Amino acid sequence: MMCLMFTLASLELIRLEPGFSDIRLPLGAASGLLSVFYLGRCVAFVALGPRDPVFVVFFGSSVTTLLNMVLLIAVSFSMAALSSEQATKDLSVRANQDGLTGLLNRQGFLDLAANELRRRSVTGTSVLILADLDHFKAVNDTYGHATGDRVLQAFAAACRTSVRSGDLIGRYGGEEFVILLSGTGADRAQELTTDISRRLKTTQSPDGITYPTVSFGIAAVRAGPLDLAKMIALADTAMYQAKANGRDTVVRATD
Ligand code: GH3
Ligand code: MG
Ligand code: MG
Repeated sequence: MMCLMFTLASLELIRLEPGFSDIRLPLGAASGLLSVFYLGRCVAFVALGPRDPVFVVFFGSSVTTLLNMVLLIAVSFSMAALSSEQATKDLSVRANQDGLTGLLNRQGFLDLAANELRRRSVTGTSVLILADLDHFKAVNDTYGHATGDRVLQAFAAACRTSVRSGDLIGRYGGEEFVILLSGTGADRAQELTTDISRRLKTTQSPDGITYPTVSFGIAAVRAGPLDLAKMIALADTAMYQAKANGRDTVVRATD
């Protein structure tokens, strides 16, 4: 039974995703060694019997107790290391997250988007969308900052439910948001903006207000090296064009 349990524990630890923890492999290897020890003990018990000197020297109760004590010490240190690793991970998640909306913050988005574009530069297209809530200052001025905050949260929720998993959404600053869609073109991006606007329009506000409209700028990159700063600049210009066109609309960057 001990051999079976340690084998299963070892397999579970080794099958965890590589980034899970640094102690995954050492602990998996230690479990594996113990399962081999218990397998040897079982074989020796059946083949030689518990009173055989070879069994007593290599697999007797003193060796087994000693090994289990070493294992207990190793597990205690591993648990401490694991909880400090988890705490570090939590901190890094919080450092990349926007506290109000739960989306990525600007830096978190830029880091992940740059990685994604690097990964995609050989294989595919990407689209970047910048969104800016229209006349948002008036919401704050009329209904107060707390209502304004809830509007930002409602917009973030509308974005989250509209995108596919794998797409990135960030709060770029204030009432501006940024979305990166990978492996798709400007047509789907435009459909998405319509979807987000429709969702926001039909969401019931807890404050009983009408949610503001949104202006969008879209920048698609079809070929060549994908440069995040260039995509953001293009989407930003397009978004300002949408404002100039009367707001509540979408403009695609011409490149
Ligand atoms: P436009 O249609 O041209 O974008 O007009 P606007 O009023 O949306 O833009 P403006 O840049 O004049 O105002 C943005 C406002 O967003 C001003 C600022 O007080 C508000 N804001 C920024 N961050 C927050 C936040 O976290 N919470 C709340 N409630 N308001 C915020
Ligand atoms: Mg703005
Ligand atoms: Mg605005």
